[in-house]
Amino acid sequence: MRRSRRVQQTQTALVAGGAGFLGSHLCEALLHDGYRVICVDNFLTGRMENVSSLIGQARFRLIEQDVCVPLELGETVDRVFNLACAASPPRYQADPVHTTRTCVIGTLNLLELAASNGARFLQASTSEVYGDPEQHPQREDYVGHVNCTGPRACYDEGKRTAETLCFDYLRAEMADIRIARIFNTYGPRMDPADGRIVSNLVMQAIEKRPLTIFGDGRQTRSFCYVSDMIGGLRRLMDVNPNPRQPVNLGNPGEFSILELARLVRELTGTKSPVKFLPLPQDDPRRRRPDIGRARALLGWSPKVPLRQGLLQTIAFFSSLDDLTMEPIAPVNRTEAGKVRNLQL
Ligand code: NAD
Repeated sequence: MRRSRRVQQTQTALVAGGAGFLGSHLCEALLHDGYRVICVDNFLTGRMENVSSLIGQARFRLIEQDVCVPLELGETVDRVFNLACAASPPRYQADPVHTTRTCVIGTLNLLELAASNGARFLQASTSEVYGDPEQHPQREDYVGHVNCTGPRACYDEGKRTAETLCFDYLRAEMADIRIARIFNTYGPRMDPADGRIVSNLVMQAIEKRPLTIFGDGRQTRSFCYVSDMIGGLRRLMDVNPNPRQPVNLGNPGEFSILELARLVRELTGTKSPVKFLPLPQDDPRRRRPDIGRARALLGWSPKVPLRQGLLQTIAFFSSLDDLTMEPIAPVNRTEAGKVRNLQL
């Protein structure tokens, strides 16, 4: 059962990227705890279905806008969660320049908003700031091993710059910022076609297609279930005093991609064979968070085992009506300036 953090007086939280996978779960949790929620999203990778059950609720407002355009809300906010940014490599590489703009200009716009409102700000950073790590497991004081000219750089370096901006606002006492370095998270409402490992394998298993593995499958990842991640983000935003340092959030259980594929086959009952494909450039070999800081500062650690989380995820994907894969098209940048209030 979700621990309630019900607010005494109605506070307003803005969730940028709130129509995405994590953002929509966060909007739901905040509404549940009594917040007024403003969801800002350009629907680049977010989907209206993710928030359709929230539309019409009195404390929910949806604004269709790119965060690269400064926000004019006409109301004050107490909390700003910045989750706006495509998270899957094929999606963020479809328009790499826009990805960098989102991470840098978008974060700057939201920091300005937080500063002018005296609001707390949480940045959804990523384990990708560690690049292809030479240290294992990754602790927050590891400065990373990132290729600044590779195809993943728009995201990795964009997120690193976003962290830089956040710390500059903190040091200048312009905003109370918190940084979550999120490791692989999965669960219902992931985009089935976004090319991430869990969605890929589960969809392939459900559709009885070969399970594709990049490389030899011995590279490792850690997988955190969405409800655990939302709990961690909420705690980091609420904790006092400000940790003034980034905090890893993720599940420290480490699985090879082959182990994940075997588990997906077992839980879906598919007989699909495994197909090996070449490893993409700059794909990290090992990934596991050291969550000592999150345990100590937030009293947080993930609770949902991979097997249980995968069962929920398989059930969600199996319930989708239209399983067709949408092609990943480049973004029309002229759309970026569009602002639409979908519900005032
Ligand atoms: P997602 O792609 O489902 O959600 C991102 C949301 O941001 C989408 O709704 C998208 O439409 C929106 N968005 C993108 N660019 C925007 C822009 N310029 N203006 C306004 N909205 C924009 O991804 P997610 O998995 O929910 O990830 C949420 C955040 O968490 C991202 O910032 C991502 O980098 C971070 N993160 C996620 C994971 C993970 O495993 N899910 C891991 C590390 C970091």
